[in-house]
Amino acid sequence: MKSLLTFLQGGVHPPEAKGQTAALPIERMPVPDELEIILGQHIGAPCEPTVTRREEVVEGGLIGEVKKGLGVPLHSPVAGTIKAIGTSAHPMRVSAPSVTIKVDHEAARADYQAGDWQQLAADELKKKVHEAGIIGIGGAGFPTHVKLSPPRDAQIDQLLLNGAECEPYITADHRQMLEHASEVVEGARIIMKILGVTKCQIGIESNKPDAIETMTRAAEAVSSADCTIQVQGLEVKYPQGSEKQLIQALTGRKVPSQSLPSAVGVVVHNVSTAAAIYDAVACSKPLYEKVVTIAGKGINKPANLLVKVGTKVSDIVDYLGGVKPELTKIIMGGPMMGFAVSDLSIPITKTTSSVLFLTEDEVDTNPHSACIRCGWCIDACPMGLEPKEVGIHVEANRAEDTARFGVFDCFECGSCAYVCPAKRPLVQFVRLAKMKAKR
Ligand code: SF4
Ligand code: SF4
Repeated sequence: MKSLLTFLQGGVHPPEAKGQTAALPIERMPVPDELEIILGQHIGAPCEPTVTRREEVVEGGLIGEVKKGLGVPLHSPVAGTIKAIGTSAHPMRVSAPSVTIKVDHEAARADYQAGDWQQLAADELKKKVHEAGIIGIGGAGFPTHVKLSPPRDAQIDQLLLNGAECEPYITADHRQMLEHASEVVEGARIIMKILGVTKCQIGIESNKPDAIETMTRAAEAVSSADCTIQVQGLEVKYPQGSEKQLIQALTGRKVPSQSLPSAVGVVVHNVSTAAAIYDAVACSKPLYEKVVTIAGKGINKPANLLVKVGTKVSDIVDYLGGVKPELTKIIMGGPMMGFAVSDLSIPITKTTSSVLFLTEDEVDTNPHSACIRCGWCIDACPMGLEPKEVGIHVEANRAEDTARFGVFDCFECGSCAYVCPAKRPLVQFVRLAKMKAKR
């Protein structure tokens, strides 16, 4: 293998903890009796329901759309009947508007056949991505069709696909790359046609050598003189998979403060988003199911599950044989950037990558104390910020002053909090500072 690429500043090495699920193939979870589909799953305006109570819906049918502003439509993951238009538990807010569907278990599953997408023009491809409700699966849920429309003056020269999956425990992208390599690569080709570029790099951390090998074979099979797709091994270092760090590792380019990747001529998508783009464009399949890693010592049976969007965490727990008595904390997302949850009725969304059931020896329950000014958080920050100052100013009720410490460049990776010997909740301080500074 060639030498491993990485970003230059900061970063940490948390225990990888991927051994529990890395070898577990993706397993389709049986559909529960009821799904709760949250209407606001993407960055932008939430969907408004296009269905009414007692209405029958088909698998893949439209159930919500954004009438005004940024957003993507929402589709039913199953055939069934609308039971309620109401609210559901939400990992970050207390509750959020949702549509509840009673599942018709007798209905036949939708059958999607792949067609020849190469006949379609770039605009038609992009329209299909939008209509299928594709958003960034591995990140915050930014509408993908918007990311496929960089500013006219941007000189985009390559596509980057993110297969780093640097968060501990999570192996959903790893399994996608092993089991659906050709769909990921076809997705890359579709994006390249939309962007009008001939070069794509796929970055994968070196702790996934089987994925590097499989993806390299798939990429070589479709590469030609006018379409080059290269797989690059990345050093195992958190947060290798964040957009700016990945760009620096793969291209050496540095995205300026509060700018988009298009400012340095690249567009970045996650490998699972690329596979969803293939499904949307070649098979006309909307995004309504996804692979979620279920891990941690507190769940009876860890798994990589393909679940319908709207499946409640409690249904997943039941399917996997329940939780263990030692369970201490449940996190949606990874341990570095995820959110602790206490309500098992929270439904899976398009951006849920994992649900972790952690025991006491997997979490740090020590209380935090005053900053001892060791500076470790500054060394760890991949953005060159001063997290300690943000924390000190928030505690002193001077959150409005934190912009000068770059709080708006913070993408809440958690590296600073991970190394802090005083266990200070630096990410929570940052979130509070952003909220107050915006007012
Ligand atoms: S790592 Fe923690 S204790 Fe050290 S300077 Fe940063 S906030 Fe303070
Ligand atoms: S959470 Fe923000 S301040 Fe802390 S290391 Fe990450 S980018 Fe830096």
